[in-house]
Amino acid sequence: MDIFTLQFETIKEMLDWRVSLDIVLIAMVFFFLYQTLRTIGSWKILSGVVLAGIIFVSARFLDLRGIEWIYSNLSQVLVLALIIIFQPELRRFFERAASLRRRGNGFEVEKIASLFSDTAFALAAQYQGAILVLAGNDSVKLKTSEGISLKAEPNFPLLMSIFDPHSPGHDGAVVVEKGMITSFAVRLPLSSSQRLSHEYGTRHHAGMGLSEMTDALVIVISEERGTVTVFKNGEMSIIDNKGELTSQITAHWQTSAFPQFVQIANQKQKRLVTQLAVSFVLAFFFWSTVVLTQSKLQEAFFTVPVEYHSTPKNVALATDVPQEIRLTLIGPMTDLEKLNYSQLRVRVDLSNAVQGKKVILVDESNIRLPRHVRVKDTDPAALELNFVSRIEIEAIVDPQLIGKVPRGYEIASVEVIPKKVNVLVPMDIDVQGNLRLLTTPIYLENVRSEKTIYCNLIAPGFVQPAGNAFPPVEVVLKVRRRS
Ligand code: ATP
Ligand code: MG
Repeated sequence: MDIFTLQFETIKEMLDWRVSLDIVLIAMVFFFLYQTLRTIGSWKILSGVVLAGIIFVSARFLDLRGIEWIYSNLSQVLVLALIIIFQPELRRFFERAASLRRRGNGFEVEKIASLFSDTAFALAAQYQGAILVLAGNDSVKLKTSEGISLKAEPNFPLLMSIFDPHSPGHDGAVVVEKGMITSFAVRLPLSSSQRLSHEYGTRHHAGMGLSEMTDALVIVISEERGTVTVFKNGEMSIIDNKGELTSQITAHWQTSAFPQFVQIANQKQKRLVTQLAVSFVLAFFFWSTVVLTQSKLQEAFFTVPVEYHSTPKNVALATDVPQEIRLTLIGPMTDLEKLNYSQLRVRVDLSNAVQGKKVILVDESNIRLPRHVRVKDTDPAALELNFVSRIEIEAIVDPQLIGKVPRGYEIASVEVIPKKVNVLVPMDIDVQGNLRLLTTPIYLENVRSEKTIYCNLIAPGFVQPAGNAFPPVEVVLKVRRRS
């Protein structure tokens, strides 16, 4: 595998779904960090985290093992701790994300519109007089007087309470701006136009008056008639049902005030989109620098031992085989760093070996390497091996007696069981039919009587057992007092 293919693989890897997920998650981290920075009070903790990060990076850079150990072993705990510490921020963040989704949604407009519609018809059914001013783009404040300020999300019980005839604030109008109730008991300018018949009193004239001067939609509920009337741009229309009123309110908002607060939501959304985009760009740069430095290909040189295994019984490897091989490895820096040099070895499977010469090329199949590391070169380029066939011969077992029996004693007899073993030896080694194998050492000191010692055979490398393994050897040692 050449360098080009390797680079290509790295690029292919960049398009992996795992990479996308990686970048998305990094972007989330950046986005969350930014959001956290914006929320007050977290600066100190955050600067602590950043400081910890700097210490960690410098520790890695300076190869400070102790600090690195602490970080690598406590990192999970630290992440948990961070989640707990930042729990309020996290909650706020997710709440914000959730509430943004609801804002500026057409459903919201309809919902508030039908709430006003319900309220208007409920008041009408009870013959409770009321005026609801739904401001347009023009300022209502400039044209009205009195009134009590309020900042409340519109809701049915509140509106019903305000217009309860027993309530001190029921006289006058409720003003709604940008979807919020901003004041009640507001006095509206009376219309002087002749278009409104005289059977209508001041409430209706007040509704007409404001609708002539501003682009507000004014809903008047008659206490005398139990009717719902809408004034808009100096026009009056009597509304028969809730549905009609809801659609008039919706239409009013869609052409005037509501777009303003849709716009606010839009602005928020735009800001959010920008923040997300910036987070993604940062995440991508962060990721690509990390991956690029990681995937930068480097060469490394190692001299590693060669291990020959699974040699068939009937052949033997000639003695002058290479025991070491010099490797040139190529791969991303981080993967090369992961290599455990002491465990690096070339393993050569000889199970197919037959008598004669064999040339074995060393490649990745002979070495256990991390995922992206490849063998670029080997020295020697190939292993030239020579196999000779083995013959079966009898070897004599010699007990390896060490030291002397105690003073005053002498060896009476030494019996070895078995006396001979069948072994395989390479044909090229001349043993002249006289191969002797030693047992493991037998120490004579302190032997004062008959003793049976169980030993193993010590065989030179070129000698192989004829069976599965060398048999165990019994040595019966007889010692007697010197006469
Ligand atoms: P309804 O059909 O409910 O009787 P209307 O048009 O006949 O209404 P009036 O009977 O005069 O009018 O209603 C008087 C009520 O109208 C007052 O109690 C007050 O709540 C409200 N009102 C009168 N003038 C104004 C004003 N300028 N701005 C706001 N509300 C007003
Ligand atoms: Mg009246």
